[in-house]
Amino acid sequence: MVWEVVIGLEIHTQLATESKIFSGASTRYGAPPNSQACLVDLGYPGVLPVLNEKAVEMAIKFGLATGCEIAQRSVFARKNYFYPDLPKGYQISQYELPIVHGGHLDIVLESGDVKTIGITRAHLEEDAGKSLHEDFDNQSGIDLNRAGTPLLEIVSEPDLRSAAEAGVYMRKVHSLVRYLGISDGNMQEGSFRCDANVSVRQKGEPKLGTRTELKNLNSFRFVEKAIEIEIERQIDVIEDGGKIVQETRLYDSDKNETRSMRGKEEANDYRYFPDPDLLPVVVSDKAIEKLRSDLPELPDAKRSRFESDFGLSSYDAGVLTAQLDTANYFEATVAAAGDAPPKLIANWVQGELAAALNQDNLDITDAKIPAAELALLTDRIQDGTLSGKLAKEVFEAIWDGEDSVDAVIEARGLKQISDSGAIEKLVSDVLEQNPEQVQQFKDGNEKVIGFFVGRVMQASQGKANPKQVNQILREKLNE
Ligand code: ADP
Ligand code: MG
Repeated sequence: MVWEVVIGLEIHTQLATESKIFSGASTRYGAPPNSQACLVDLGYPGVLPVLNEKAVEMAIKFGLATGCEIAQRSVFARKNYFYPDLPKGYQISQYELPIVHGGHLDIVLESGDVKTIGITRAHLEEDAGKSLHEDFDNQSGIDLNRAGTPLLEIVSEPDLRSAAEAGVYMRKVHSLVRYLGISDGNMQEGSFRCDANVSVRQKGEPKLGTRTELKNLNSFRFVEKAIEIEIERQIDVIEDGGKIVQETRLYDSDKNETRSMRGKEEANDYRYFPDPDLLPVVVSDKAIEKLRSDLPELPDAKRSRFESDFGLSSYDAGVLTAQLDTANYFEATVAAAGDAPPKLIANWVQGELAAALNQDNLDITDAKIPAAELALLTDRIQDGTLSGKLAKEVFEAIWDGEDSVDAVIEARGLKQISDSGAIEKLVSDVLEQNPEQVQQFKDGNEKVIGFFVGRVMQASQGKANPKQVNQILREKLNE
């Protein structure tokens, strides 16, 4: 049987406002427990929520960036349920009339094809507090600092067809909220998390299968792994003659399995109704147009510009623009460079720099080589001072704390030897010392060239210009 996988994601992204969505308490992460929860967040009787305008603006920016319709009138509703981290007994969310709906986002698949994913809606809501089960013996602690932090819940259409597509889509949404400056997207701190709805159906079947919902996936890798394992489970169940139960499941990353958590609740379980403490949100055309004109350059536009302005391949442009900070670093390097071409700089950013960041687990904004120095380094490759190999040595020296490219070249005597007289001398010496290999070349073994190149490079302590070495070797051997 051929199975088709159907996935829709609900992404919760914390908005980067300074204060909460309905109170003046700070949203800063990492404060001592319960030090940033005011009476509104604690759900005291008699207090009233006041909507944070910045959260509304951020939601609208997201809607504009994804071609959504912006609701000129949207309504906050109460979603009623009990949980210890929700002292009011309800979460303020949007239900029937969300702030934005009906948009789309293009993703680039591994094959290079572009696929459009529908955005059903994105609505504003407040985050709940946090239960801490680990720090206390046989007890749970409740930290309400997070209560009232603004969230934008971004709901996709069930348009995704594999775990990999879901991963690409989630990364794209992450990139977009960072570009827009509406969320820090910090996944370790829970600023960006995702529920995945997964079902399978036989290929060609028009009706969607019964779905399960995988809760609170907080890394790209976990999303992909959880979906993969859930797809396998569902297919096994159906092929064994069973039925999928609509339910909420938890992903256990240690065991790499999903486990049933609770039966799926329906909307009417929550007794949604418009929150009588909050007026409908009314947004004017003028306010929307102002936000539209303030939108920054977005990932797709930047990618096209990198292709046309810098002559980069679509792939390179995609990698360099996936994260705004990477794009900014690349552009700063290109701007600071003299003759080094953008392609050379792109290679260094994606190669050596990316590897070093990865190794030290650093963000590019904390790179231990400033853009201006990487520009100099690539200029020195371009003007022939440094070979690729020597340049790597210089890069490492700077990374490890040395001052500047030129100072390192000077202090370590790393200048590439491009003086043809000096290289000819090195080549002659090597040929003289290895008559056997010279004979092999004369007998038609072209491969010994590699041996000679190696010897010459060794004799020059890696400093001879490899291109010239090759050329001069061939000339001499063919004499
Ligand atoms: P709820 O609010 O109850 O979680 P929604 O109907 O709003 O449910 O859908 C939530 C998410 O589930 C959306 O992203 C949607 O695309 C996705 N979805 C709905 N039905 C299916 C299905 N049969 N298989 C996979 N995903 C689905
Ligand atoms: Mg849901």
